[in-house]
Amino acid sequence: MNRREFSKNSVLLGVGALAGFPKGSQARVQNESGDYYEEPAKKLPVRKFDVVVAGAGTGGVVAALAAAQQGAKTMLIERKGYTGGTVTEGGTALHSFYNLWKAFPGVKKCQVVRGIPQQIVDRLMAAGACSGHAEMVKGYNYDSVCTAIDTELYKLVTMQMLDEAGVFVAVNTLLTGAIMDGSRIRGAIVDSRSGREAIYARAFVDCSAYGDLAAFAGADYKVPNDYSCCNSIGLANVDLDGYVAYLKANGGNNQLAYGLRSGEGGKIVRFNGGLGGDFKKEAGKIGMSSMITTVQDNYLMFVKCNFKVPGSVINRDDMAKGELEVRKRQAKAVELFRKHVPGCEKAFMARTSPTLNIRRGRLITCDYDITHEDVLEGRHFDDDVMAYGFHDSAPRYQIKNGGTYGIPYRALRAAGVENLLVAGMMITSDHRPHMSTRNTVACMGQGQGTGTAAALCAKKNCGTRDLRYSDLRAALVKGGVYFES
Ligand SMILES: Cc1cc2nc3c(=O)[nH]c(=O)nc-3n(C[C@H](O)[C@H](O)[C@H](O)COP(=O)(O)OP(=O)(O)OC[C@H]3O[C@@H](n4cnc5c(N)ncnc54)[C@H](O)[C@@H]3O)c2cc1C
Repeated sequence: MNRREFSKNSVLLGVGALAGFPKGSQARVQNESGDYYEEPAKKLPVRKFDVVVAGAGTGGVVAALAAAQQGAKTMLIERKGYTGGTVTEGGTALHSFYNLWKAFPGVKKCQVVRGIPQQIVDRLMAAGACSGHAEMVKGYNYDSVCTAIDTELYKLVTMQMLDEAGVFVAVNTLLTGAIMDGSRIRGAIVDSRSGREAIYARAFVDCSAYGDLAAFAGADYKVPNDYSCCNSIGLANVDLDGYVAYLKANGGNNQLAYGLRSGEGGKIVRFNGGLGGDFKKEAGKIGMSSMITTVQDNYLMFVKCNFKVPGSVINRDDMAKGELEVRKRQAKAVELFRKHVPGCEKAFMARTSPTLNIRRGRLITCDYDITHEDVLEGRHFDDDVMAYGFHDSAPRYQIKNGGTYGIPYRALRAAGVENLLVAGMMITSDHRPHMSTRNTVACMGQGQGTGTAAALCAKKNCGTRDLRYSDLRAALVKGGVYFES
């Protein structure tokens, strides 16, 4: 077939016919003026589950594991070919399983996030893919521990765990719609190379970061656009010790943690320092920070180039401009390392994220909105699903006395939708508390809370507001979740 015949067929029949899509996926142009195209109605095959989780990222993996651990028949929908989400593409360090005990003399060290997030760490450790909970030696006003991960093995380990738990993991599958029955979600619509399908379930959890399922279900949302986006680089062929020495010589360092690196304990896994002279000036222009996190020798897992996308993070064309801009910055970042840092003359980009990482997409309106005071005062609620003790804006904002605050179940219920829970970066409207609730380990804990609750709702055939908190709490305690009281 020549090119002209190919494009003729594409218009008349849709490219699906050529790609071997199921019969019936071909559509014909009906409106000759070309002003609009009306999609014909179509019968979709239906799959049925107890719980559907949208997005196999930081929160979604844990939500699906939690639902499966409760015995729910669970489907996890992920647009990419792997699990892990922003954990594997953004920060690459899990913050934080602990309270800020080091910054508050006399306060007891306490691991405040346990349960499934800790099970993931245990599996990563067994695979040599984690620094362990490495205590900060410097910079402990910011955090008491840094738990660095191998981003690539994180994908494998979490996929294996999901497989073992019996979760139906649909990767390379985009969630594209919701089927509503009043204020109840009856099903999600997904698209993949196997065609378009309707996925029915009793309870749904949106962990898509963008809040796609919630938006399709008609939930109220805003798009604050209050963060820069980022695509972090894994920089290989570097002399890690040379880089650390360079940073020390050019402004000292203000963060330091030792942990497991390339199978050997007591190695630097976290370091942050002021960059000197031209390097600092040039790095500032491309939004690059100097922090390192790594679990491998001669590899910097976490070189960030930040960029505030003008417009909206949910607008394709605005983001397309951002994708180009950030890739230019990444190339520049590598150049700077090669030019300025001894031992990095032959450094190269070993990993980038497939897309720009957002720090916030849609903000979904929930039954409760966690406030700045809730976090700083260390407030707990009568429907807590977890405790959390880390704030990304420390030392400016810290939880009172190195303690914890609670994330209440009501903050994870999408307002106006009967059977939808949300977890991850899409909750908490105020930027200040969001700088705490959006962090990886908070998202993971919220995942366990929502996945467990969704499974119980499915079992009891009730809406998310009809679930008895005592039942949820008992299941979470059994699942290893830590509570303050
Ligand atoms: C650059 C950067 C650095 C960071 N550094 C740190 C750090 O050092 N420590 C820390 O604790 N936190 C850090 N954070 C914050 C933290 O990583 C995120 O807030 C957190 O991981 C978000 O988790 P999530 O579950 O909400 O979303 P994600 O982990 O992003 O998961 C969302 C998933 O949903 C999928 N998805 C989206 N839409 C659809 C759809 N329609 N259909 C199917 N799948 C879909 C995505 O592909 C993705 O896998 C950082 C964030 C960024 C961007």
